[in-house]
Amino acid sequence: MRPKIIAGNWKMNTSLSEGRLLIESLVSHHVSPDPRIIIIPPFTHLDMANTLFKDTPLLLGAQTLSHHNNGAYTGDVSAQILQDMGCQYVLIGHSERRQYHGEDNTLLNQKIKQALSHQITPIYCVGETLEDRESDRTLSIIDRQLEVGLSDISLDKVSFIIAYEPVWAIGTGKVATPDQAQTVHAHIRYKLSQLSDQSVAESCPILYGGSVNPSNSKDLLSQPDIDGGLVGGASLDSDAFGAIIGSCT
Ligand code: PEP
Repeated sequence: MRPKIIAGNWKMNTSLSEGRLLIESLVSHHVSPDPRIIIIPPFTHLDMANTLFKDTPLLLGAQTLSHHNNGAYTGDVSAQILQDMGCQYVLIGHSERRQYHGEDNTLLNQKIKQALSHQITPIYCVGETLEDRESDRTLSIIDRQLEVGLSDISLDKVSFIIAYEPVWAIGTGKVATPDQAQTVHAHIRYKLSQLSDQSVAESCPILYGGSVNPSNSKDLLSQPDIDGGLVGGASLDSDAFGAIIGSCT
């Protein structure tokens, strides 16, 4: 049985004091480990979140990491540092990293390996642009992202999560229909069975991301291959995020 997961990606939002208020609200409202709630704030907030999450079921993630172990890489953050900060998860391959930082599938594969070598669970983001979808390349783009991003990894020996995020739905208010999302999720599961085996495909959580909000979350999350949501904008509003979490049950 796969866990239900709701992850909140704060991106480059909130001051330290706004972040603290949001974290305090999450801590007081969410006391159950089901669904699994992963909060992904800016790097600068990780230490505070880690302290406030102690003895709560809330889990911590980072938005990216370096593919290097350590060294002269100004501005980068290593897997070791994230581990010290209490991160159990890291987003890898978010479309904003692919688009604005030129991160390609080969680099992302190295990042995934870095995370895994420090016992941090990667949340590997895949998804097509509008142009890909309109030219009927959605599944082939996603296949390539999975093939290269997950290459040379014994998927049956590690824990990882996939997030399907159609680029055209991120931060746009346009959301994939439950049918569109389910079709891609089922395909990702099939692809995982090809890249590894059926048991890996069946046990891997696959999250949907792209303009998830309280009015569409229930329909999306009730699809058989959608195991949760990766939520951007709505994760910054504790009521909206709470309602999305509530729609899991
Ligand atoms: C995201 O940042 O991963 C995301 C899905 O953002 P939004 O929910 O705002 O579309």
